[in-house]
Amino acid sequence: MNEAQRTPPSHVPMDHFPVVDGELVVGGMALTRLAARVGQTPFYAYDRELLTRRVGELRAALPPNLKLHYAMKANPMPALVCHMAGLVDGIDVASAGELKVALDAGADPQQISFAGPGKQRAELRQAVAAGILINIESFREVGELAAIRAETGSEARIAVRVNPDFELKSSGMKMGGGAKQFGVDAEQVPALLAAIGSAGLSFEGFHLFAGSQNLKPEAIVEAQRKSFELALRLAQSAPAPVRFLNLGGGFGIPYFPGEPHLDLAPISAGLASIAERAAAELPQAELVVELGRYLVGEAGIYVSRIVDRKISRGHCFLVIDGGLHHHLSASGNFGQVIRKNYPVAIGNRMTASARETVSVVGPLCTPLDLLADRMELARAEAGDLVVVFQSGAYGFTASPQAFLGHPACLEVMA
Ligand SMILES: *Cc1c(COP(=O)(O)O)cnc(C)c1O
Repeated sequence: MNEAQRTPPSHVPMDHFPVVDGELVVGGMALTRLAARVGQTPFYAYDRELLTRRVGELRAALPPNLKLHYAMKANPMPALVCHMAGLVDGIDVASAGELKVALDAGADPQQISFAGPGKQRAELRQAVAAGILINIESFREVGELAAIRAETGSEARIAVRVNPDFELKSSGMKMGGGAKQFGVDAEQVPALLAAIGSAGLSFEGFHLFAGSQNLKPEAIVEAQRKSFELALRLAQSAPAPVRFLNLGGGFGIPYFPGEPHLDLAPISAGLASIAERAAAELPQAELVVELGRYLVGEAGIYVSRIVDRKISRGHCFLVIDGGLHHHLSASGNFGQVIRKNYPVAIGNRMTASARETVSVVGPLCTPLDLLADRMELARAEAGDLVVVFQSGAYGFTASPQAFLGHPACLEVMA
């Protein structure tokens, strides 16, 4: 056995939040003071400064003409979407409810796009009236949009969401390649484009999204290159020049022990080469990447308070006032195959030297309500604050809050 095999992997340091006098600092405020300001635990807090910094660093790393969209299903909190709308070039919505939040946040309708299988007539009517770009995902939607134009006289702006003929390798969640409910299979797209052309609908471009939560830059680069090449081929059957090309995203963040930060350098080089080819081969196309968790995930924490400290047959359980009903993904039940610990800390004892191995569990009457399994943390007591990092995406709205009838969680910007 070599050294690497013997040392268990650890989480990357969560040093984007400062620590002052032993306390985590969020939005410039010590955590216990922030908890007092919020007035209750549990809560999610999203740090504005970290959101701004992340977008700035990403823009500095990526080619200058590339447009950056925020996929707001990662975190649709209205105040956060408002903040993001001022930083990115566009917002991607996946329902009429998200569309309302994006419009309320002041996002420019010209720069909002709408994706998702099973768009209904009523939501399509709203999308047409709003003047946003609709990513068509079936032949039925072409008919719906033609009917809406006949009914209202309003012209839909459309792009075709393509289910590519390849997969994003090593992805947390694959959303393209093979048989999928998302988009229209690449091989059916020429027929769909013909239907769009004969319905006289206004075609603007393509949307390709291969997958999510990827930490392998080579895999992302390959998927983006293949997406571009597929779009080039499909453009030959398009009824109008491609003005919009969304190459997807899938940029991951480190959640689990041993996972690194994503290396942007190869992705940036790959996108620069795509941008160069696009300038020659699809000269009217605006290139877009759409990111959710990469933009907001690291800026958010979930904070709960220890209610009880129990020893069962020698093992210590810290029982908190929050749990999987607020943070399903940290419990390992949001798409994970094997449960692993998120980065967790005792937020008011960040520099304590006394440490112990404990499990952090919630108040729900199910063994699934586990937020840290045998993890080494600062020695903690009832009243201390447990922080789950990497919680800015797929937290609050991706959790079954009504499960077991405990009090609701809050979300704040800090
Ligand atoms: C979910 C989704 C995203 C965002 O995925 P992240 O992993 O949060 O970046 C982007 N685009 C589409 C089409 C999606 O469905």
